Amino acid sequence: MITKPKGCYDVIEKDALKLKKINRYIDYYCEFYNYDFIRTPIFESRDLFHRTVGESSDIVTKETYDFKDRSDRELTLRPEGTAGVVRSFIENKMYGSNMPRKLYYNGTMYRYERPGQGRNREFTQFGVEILGSNDVATDVEVISFGYRLFEELGFKDLNVKINNLGSKEDRENYKVALKEYLAPHINELCEDCKKRFETNPLRILDCKVDKDSAILKNVPSILDYQSEESTSRFKKVLEYLNYLDIDYEVDSNLVRGLDYYDYTVFEIVSSEEILGGASTIAAGGRYNDLVEKLGGPSTPCIGFACGLERVMLAMDGLEETEKRPLDCYILYVNEEEKIKAITLAQDLRLSGVSVDYDTTGRSLKSQFKEADRNHAELLILLNSEDLKMGLITVKDNITKEETKVDENEIIDYIVSR
Ligand code: ATP
Ligand code: MG
Repeated sequence: MITKPKGCYDVIEKDALKLKKINRYIDYYCEFYNYDFIRTPIFESRDLFHRTVGESSDIVTKETYDFKDRSDRELTLRPEGTAGVVRSFIENKMYGSNMPRKLYYNGTMYRYERPGQGRNREFTQFGVEILGSNDVATDVEVISFGYRLFEELGFKDLNVKINNLGSKEDRENYKVALKEYLAPHINELCEDCKKRFETNPLRILDCKVDKDSAILKNVPSILDYQSEESTSRFKKVLEYLNYLDIDYEVDSNLVRGLDYYDYTVFEIVSSEEILGGASTIAAGGRYNDLVEKLGGPSTPCIGFACGLERVMLAMDGLEETEKRPLDCYILYVNEEEKIKAITLAQDLRLSGVSVDYDTTGRSLKSQFKEADRNHAELLILLNSEDLKMGLITVKDNITKEETKVDENEIIDYIVSR
């Protein structure tokens, strides 16, 4: 038997219902907030991710699926969504008059990670990006959008962890101070952090191994190394969050794993126990230099990405997601009735009624059972006697009441029911 690759999974049964519900909410709420849908390729040139996510990031050093196609092109399965969106924004010249562009994506991402609860090799991210505005209102809009969407999905104890990485200069100043502080403790850090000390010391703050050590808990705060402009910007973000009643907690050690962030970074965290170590359901931040770095015009941006598998996991503890009941089930016995069943099903479906009928030669008795299994509200009982007189019997599957309806009026009758 051939089995699925490690770290991948099939979305079936309960999970399929949950995923459908989440996707419906995403499409619905993105429209309310005026985000346009964008789909970009699942693989892109290898360079795109190396240049955006960062050579020294965990994703690029350990997690990408890199491969060559039959013409020796160097390609990578996308590990995240922002790089592709920004590439597309530039390539399709979306910059220009209609700024800001508000986009959302929803698709599979690939990272060669150690699989576990809420951590897969193929996983799904939904994300939003606002390209072309540096207004703090956009920082607050993406944060509150994520927060309110998860609330609508049933999450109760949500918290936003937020930090300000400041400008590039702010970060350079902080890096000096951070390295000075860490230097005497370097041997107490994990092997990865020893390397990060030289390549990207800020990433040490994001280390999953050392994060609870006293050394990291007592690092100097990045918020003490920022320009006045940067500090007042962050104050304003927090002020706006207060206006919108969003629960947040400033965490000066929050840095995020991708290299392109500056100014506001945040995570939306759920306290649902089932999530364990994977309690961050969405994460994002501002990336004001990325568009320019990839060859586009200077365009300040902000966005977040949300792991749908984690939302699905958490939904186990939230309300039940039930399969939607079928409006109608059509029952028949002979060939003449079967033809009527097929045509009636088509007409009803085109009129917006959900319908099904048997295609396995079941007895009438098990067709009734099948209708119940699908929670059908109305049963259409076809029989040749009725059809001869131009009638169709409809049975209310809840009250068990039967009505004979004129064949020519059946669609209107069912729709009105
Ligand atoms: P983590 O710290 O959990 O490894 P990350 O910093 O790598 O997360 P991002 O790259 O910011 O995560 O991705 C945004 C969101 O995507 C995460 O908050 C999480 O919900 C989800 N996510 C990331 N990696 C995975 C994965 N391997 N499987 C499932 N969901 C994931
Ligand atoms: Mg990760």
